[in-house]
Amino acid sequence: MNNTFTHPLPDADGYFGEYGGSFIPPQLQTILAEISEAYEAIIRDEDFLGELRWLYRHYVGRPSPVFHARRLSQKYGAEIYLKREDVNHTGAHKINHCLGEALLARKMGKTRLIAETGAGQHGVALATAAALLGMECDIFMGEVDMAKEHPNVVRMHILGARVVPVGHGRRTLKEAVDAAFEAYLGDPVNQFYAIGSVVGPHPFPKMVRDFQSIVGNEARQQIQEMTGRLPDHVVACVGGGSNAMGIFSAFLDDETVALHGVEPAGRSLDEPGEHAATLTKGRPGVMHGFKSYMLQDEAGEPEEVYSVASGLDYPAVGPQHSYLKDIGRVRYHTINDAEAIDAFFELSRLEGIIPAIESSHAVAHATRLAAEGGSILVNLSGRGDKDIDFVAENYGARYGLPG
Ligand SMILES: *Cc1c(COP(=O)(O)O)cnc(C)c1O
Repeated sequence: MNNTFTHPLPDADGYFGEYGGSFIPPQLQTILAEISEAYEAIIRDEDFLGELRWLYRHYVGRPSPVFHARRLSQKYGAEIYLKREDVNHTGAHKINHCLGEALLARKMGKTRLIAETGAGQHGVALATAAALLGMECDIFMGEVDMAKEHPNVVRMHILGARVVPVGHGRRTLKEAVDAAFEAYLGDPVNQFYAIGSVVGPHPFPKMVRDFQSIVGNEARQQIQEMTGRLPDHVVACVGGGSNAMGIFSAFLDDETVALHGVEPAGRSLDEPGEHAATLTKGRPGVMHGFKSYMLQDEAGEPEEVYSVASGLDYPAVGPQHSYLKDIGRVRYHTINDAEAIDAFFELSRLEGIIPAIESSHAVAHATRLAAEGGSILVNLSGRGDKDIDFVAENYGARYGLPG
């Protein structure tokens, strides 16, 4: 499909430098080795790649456009371009890897897709892929998140997925991960655990990156057609890091292109539990089956994390990002809640595009970078329809919405 499917990293054991790998129970090693083998086969299989390409085009609506944000550019003094992943079917980039993972699972003879979800975005994207391909789908979700993200629970039900409530502990994402993992171990032969970002044990960080690389490959060509050259900067928000790896991967070898990952500074970068800036404030460790930068307490347990963008509040980050940070190829920055919400309204009112609060972090950083001039390509990872009620309730008064 493209060159990132045969990228030199990770190595055969799933390492990007010292990061990545596979830290899992022995009974799972065999299963993951099978997934890895099946994956290496399908990325050389023209039938598989053809079907994926066909779905991207006719189901997701790819290629997604690159849009020159003229009024935003004018205000900030640089040329700002948006890669419009927000116009994909289901409203974000996640469908790109969910379709890839679901197709692979079906090819391997699996009948059920399993995953956890926090805000419900990954759950909805996976339930969509499952419906399309006629597979069963079990989504594990903490009861607290189910109440908070009710519309996504309804969406999953409508799509025919089973949402399994997780009622122990804090009843949020961490418990949902554990519950989903346990259910997966119950029958790893017929089930496929579809990880929702470039995280987890090998081969998931590689696989999810490869499925997302369509974003960067399209954008690199589109922006050259529009402007005759490569952008000076590429900017993306980083939760687990899949939309960022998707767009960065096409530009890694372009030395003139500066790459910027944007982490959530939440309410405060100085207090643990008030942000989710993993690369900025974390240190290397092992969690959820892989080695990477993590936000962890003294005992090495995952720290509480927070961001106004629920898709960004994860205490670890994809291992390739840790590697790219250490070698200095990507610079990682932070944007706090208030700055992200500002950018949310600004893009809505200057361009008529309501961005996801996650993506608003990237937009906010682009406006900051604009002081340097030049051209900036922003990955607009998703649309903000899911966020409007929350924003109206919490920020409406400040931005002049009628009460
Ligand atoms: C889930 C999500 C993210 C964060 O996930 P990454 O793996 O870091 O890309 C960002 N933007 C949107 C719209 C999302 O739904």
